[in-house]
Amino acid sequence: MTSTLTAVLDGTELAREIRTYAAAAAAELTASGTPPRLAVVVATDDESSAWYVRSIAGAAARTGIRCEIVDLGPDVGPERIRAALRTLSADAAVHGIVLQTPLPPDASSEDLADAIDPDKDVDGANPLSLGRLAAGLPAFAPATAAAVLALLDHHGIPLSGRKATVVGRSTVVGKPAAQLLLQRDATVTICHRHTKDLAELTRPAEVLVVAVGRAGLITAEHVAPDAVVIDVGTNPTPDGALVGDVDEASVAGRVAGLTPVPGGVGPVTTALLLEHTVRSAARTRAEENP
Ligand code: NAP
Repeated sequence: MTSTLTAVLDGTELAREIRTYAAAAAAELTASGTPPRLAVVVATDDESSAWYVRSIAGAAARTGIRCEIVDLGPDVGPERIRAALRTLSADAAVHGIVLQTPLPPDASSEDLADAIDPDKDVDGANPLSLGRLAAGLPAFAPATAAAVLALLDHHGIPLSGRKATVVGRSTVVGKPAAQLLLQRDATVTICHRHTKDLAELTRPAEVLVVAVGRAGLITAEHVAPDAVVIDVGTNPTPDGALVGDVDEASVAGRVAGLTPVPGGVGPVTTALLLEHTVRSAARTRAEENP
């Protein structure tokens, strides 16, 4: 295999650009009487989830978006969560709603997300949003999947006619990322836990998106020298660091580009949630003032 230089496909600069745009739009909306507001519904005491929610709230505050954390506690039942989502959906002052995972064992986000008004579904969780996405109709894509595409575009990676492989088929990342790649005329292969020979399907990929949640899953044997690899995975290490699904040491120098973890998909995801919220608020404002 030819050794190549691997470009670091950083996400922090793109995230800053998106936040700058969102902050300007938020200031304008606030001045015209529609202050953008995001609500995050939490029903867990999971520490990494709490860290993520705090990072959304901090980024929202810095962008001029009010972020309300609706903490229902880890013992709440699905009906209480559904009721909270319905109340927020009916509240004209709320423009974005996120249902944070994990949820209590008897609650499932797939079941509950249909209680989120699709117009406020800034993380694309409602099956209606996902269906519209699959049909090529306007809808908010899940922010992480949208971040994958935004990063590819930001770094000038062409997609039309290219071979893309997505490892992972979750509703929040793998499937919508595959849909978005398909919309951009890539030829898409999706892999999952039952895929027989993963390397056989990842090696031909010119664009490889990995969203599994298993540190070190992707090594040099899984990649081609011209591949661009987007590592969505976030895996905490025993010493408190965060690593992706790609074994960076094994792959470095053997692919054309690789997103870092942290600092790749993560910051773009958070920034896009804010951008989706101001877009939703702008739509509300336009409807109120035709
Ligand atoms: P998930 O719901 O657990 O889905 C994982 C997917 O990986 C499933 O489709 C599973 O297949 C597949 N998989 C598991 N083991 C595999 C293997 N050995 N080979 C091939 N596929 C395998 O996880 P998720 O919510 O999509 O998240 C994936 C990762 O992305 C996690 O590390 C998560 O923390 C991270 N994440 C990051 C961000 C961000 O902003 N950076 C946002 C969301 C998620 P089956 O369907 O067959 O079980």
